Amino acid sequence: MKISYYNGQFKNDDEITVDYNDRAFYFGDGVYEVVRVYNNEFFTLDEHMDRLVRSASEIGIEGLDRARMVEIVTELNEKNNIDDGSVYIQVSRGIGKRNHAYLANKKPVVLAYMNEISRPTAQMEEGISVITADDYRWLKCHVKSLNLLANVMEKERAIRAGAHETILNREGIVTEGSSTNVFIVKDGVLRTHPANNMILNGITRLEVLKVARDRKIPYEEKAFTVGDLMNAEEVFITSTTQEVTPVTEVDGEVVGDGSKGRITHAIQEGFDEEIHKLNLVK
Ligand SMILES: *Cc1c(COP(=O)(O)O)cnc(C)c1O
Repeated sequence: MKISYYNGQFKNDDEITVDYNDRAFYFGDGVYEVVRVYNNEFFTLDEHMDRLVRSASEIGIEGLDRARMVEIVTELNEKNNIDDGSVYIQVSRGIGKRNHAYLANKKPVVLAYMNEISRPTAQMEEGISVITADDYRWLKCHVKSLNLLANVMEKERAIRAGAHETILNREGIVTEGSSTNVFIVKDGVLRTHPANNMILNGITRLEVLKVARDRKIPYEEKAFTVGDLMNAEEVFITSTTQEVTPVTEVDGEVVGDGSKGRITHAIQEGFDEEIHKLNLVK
């Protein structure tokens, strides 16, 4: 039996009922995080919790109790005892009768639960295909908002095209995927969109940049075009659950020689080391 958390209580999964006046339900009015658990330990929990507090603050949800949220996910991890998985945590603005205007004195509502998942080893070796599409999201993409309408519609577009992810662009400038960040290699240099309001600054993205620094792989946080993406030597996407996944096909065109590139491989190795460092601590 899985134990989850909603609005102040830990309960068996099948006993949790969500309040229909939760603003997450009406408006997607809240923020969230997904944190990876390897070998029953959180990976980069601090970074995720910092970002959760930052996202909340960006949309005017102030005074989140960060320490309490760490307690909640830690307790969930103990109760569920998952080796390989993730914790999902969301914070909504609160519960109250439907009204666009914020309701006075409403407390944020936390929902958290765990999933068992395994590393996407096959796709990390073989790579995936992606399509490109317009990025018509709002201009606060640095907030990890619950409001994911454009993201889910664009993910679905990829699935319908027989691809795995949609890489978005604003007037030809590649921003990110529907739930992933995007890197290319051009002339041996790793490149990704700068962390501004146009993208969600992934914790995995930051880990990749750290690995690049450690391994002396040159990189730039500099925007690039769909043309650069199509002509790149290597392409990969990153996220907490997809880790570092090579892209071998963009809009039906093969990337490089169609297999995982040398720099992508080096980044994967470095990322793997970070995960294993954590497991050695145990
Ligand atoms: C969560 C997310 C990512 C990846 O972030 P990670 O912290 O690496 O999981 C990238 N883009 C979007 C739009 C996201 O929501």
